[in-house]
Amino acid sequence: TKILVTGVNGYIGSWIARSLLERGIAVLGAVRSENKGRHLRELFASYEERFQLVQVPDIMVDGAFDEAVLDVDGVIHTASPVVLTAVDPGEVIGPAMKGTLGLLTSVAKFGTNVQRVVVTSSCTAVFHFPSEPTVFSETDWNEQAVKEVEEKGSNASFAAKYCASKTLAEKAAWDFFNESKGTLPWDLTVINPPNVHGPFINEVPNPQSLGYATNEWYNIVVRGDMSAEDMTSKGHCWVDVRDLAEAHIRALFVDAAGGERIIVSAGPYVWQDWLDVANSLAMQSRRLPVGVPGAGAGAQYLMSYDTGKQERIFGLGFRTKADTARDVLNQFAHLGW
Ligand code: NDP
Repeated sequence: TKILVTGVNGYIGSWIARSLLERGIAVLGAVRSENKGRHLRELFASYEERFQLVQVPDIMVDGAFDEAVLDVDGVIHTASPVVLTAVDPGEVIGPAMKGTLGLLTSVAKFGTNVQRVVVTSSCTAVFHFPSEPTVFSETDWNEQAVKEVEEKGSNASFAAKYCASKTLAEKAAWDFFNESKGTLPWDLTVINPPNVHGPFINEVPNPQSLGYATNEWYNIVVRGDMSAEDMTSKGHCWVDVRDLAEAHIRALFVDAAGGERIIVSAGPYVWQDWLDVANSLAMQSRRLPVGVPGAGAGAQYLMSYDTGKQERIFGLGFRTKADTARDVLNQFAHLGW
């Protein structure tokens, strides 16, 4: 079995590749350039020819994935701009939508052995900013962000542009799939994760180069860059990157996942919860900010997710905040961050 993983040099893509390789499954990883693949070649050297790379320099070009899909049995598409600084909304919406649609088109034309395509969407394609505590489910779509971008264009918030890119890309994937359903030998599964935390194995030279959510964790839990008031009111839901990788593997192989959109969340938090957990770990080597210990306990979570579908189809168990915090802090300590 060989699986194409796009965005394989990213935070999530690299963990997915490792999980596949550890199971004895071959990986064809798509990267933009030879240079982008160098770190992974070294990281996965022990897997020899079971780990291969293919260069796809521009995912916006028609037919970009035509060759990459020729000889694979499944596809996991993680590549999409995780950019929260875009001025022109097209900067994120273009590669997100065209990348996804182009990939599905290539699979439909040339992926004769492909049985399933898994697309990494996001809870940003699910939620909207609610005025009262809300439990979202797979039936929800972030129309709010799309509307903001339609109305305000480049004046829309950075978050809205990113959320709209994920919503529109996922919708495009389902439209493509629903239009060709019955005529295709493969089906589609979409995974919607909230904020992803946990150690990284991709190339990250310094804390500033961490992805958006991991960088936020570093800034708040390690550096204390947040007011006490925000610490007990701000937060979201989360999942450990390694559990999310496992969810992607199940998405490939569990029959019942076909045709489903599945939220994969370990639960909600406010930032004070992470501070309390981090400080409860016996890690004497560093002093962490403490915030207001225990003040997160009574916090109301503004957004949470119904995870019934995940439980039913994947039945995943999740790492705890303590598991994740320990591994991240150990990695940061090891790197001297
Ligand atoms: P990373 O930024 O670490 O990885 C993104 C990957 O996508 C990289 O390989 C990157 O390649 C590739 N990519 C981005 N833009 C383009 C483009 N225009 N053309 C080709 N490749 C591109 O992010 P994550 O691993 O965190 O994200 C992976 C997926 O998970 C994304 O779809 C993201 O939306 C989704 N997600 C992430 C969450 C999180 O908290 N991290 C939460 C929810 C969803 P390159 O290195 O060349 O730029």
